[in-house]
Amino acid sequence: MTELTRLEQAVTLLSAAYGSLGLAQGESTWARFVRVLMGIPTGHAASDTLVGLLQTGPLAAPGESSVATPGQLVEILAPIPRGSQKASVIRAVAAWWLAQFGDEVSPAWSVSPQSYRESLRQIRGLGPATVDELLLFAADLPVFPVDRTALRVAVRHGWLDLPVEDEDAQSLFVRGVDGSPARLQELARLLTRVGESHCGREPNCEGCPLQSLLPSGGPLNPQSC
Ligand code: SF4
Repeated sequence: MTELTRLEQAVTLLSAAYGSLGLAQGESTWARFVRVLMGIPTGHAASDTLVGLLQTGPLAAPGESSVATPGQLVEILAPIPRGSQKASVIRAVAAWWLAQFGDEVSPAWSVSPQSYRESLRQIRGLGPATVDELLLFAADLPVFPVDRTALRVAVRHGWLDLPVEDEDAQSLFVRGVDGSPARLQELARLLTRVGESHCGREPNCEGCPLQSLLPSGGPLNPQSC
């Protein structure tokens, strides 16, 4: 069985265990960008507060955010968990957005995902996985946020070998679900769920939805990632 077939099996098993995880609809791309940056998914206790902030004031559009003072952003983000700490990155992302798209809140993403990845990675405070999370969940581009949980699951199951190269990981996950952004979003959410419930620093394989896909000797490199 190939790694890609195993990944398809993993999606099937995780979906059966956790159900289909609904996606937020109806927000502008800018609003989704801010939501991902703040780490506030729909359903979070602070989501309604964030929705209000996105409708008027300095967060409503990138042009507003880019000219807000750091103090204004710190103040309005204070009700959001760790929000004040994100004020500077919001300003930097707003400036990046204006340079790319002007003040259009739902623009066309017309150049290559790699181009957006490279320019966003220049922003202080945005790591590679966060950049890919923004591009996948806010812009619906076919990239995969290879965070610690995704790496743990892939390495422990032998789908990727250590040391993991970024392009190998992208190739595995993007090709593994046929490159569809909607399926990549689903995969990312499902892996986050299995990381929370079973596959943390120490793998807890007993009863895990992916237990049947383990190598015969159990998880590989269980302490290495
Ligand atoms: S806990 Fe075990 S079975 Fe579950 S994803 Fe991690 S390595 Fe796989």
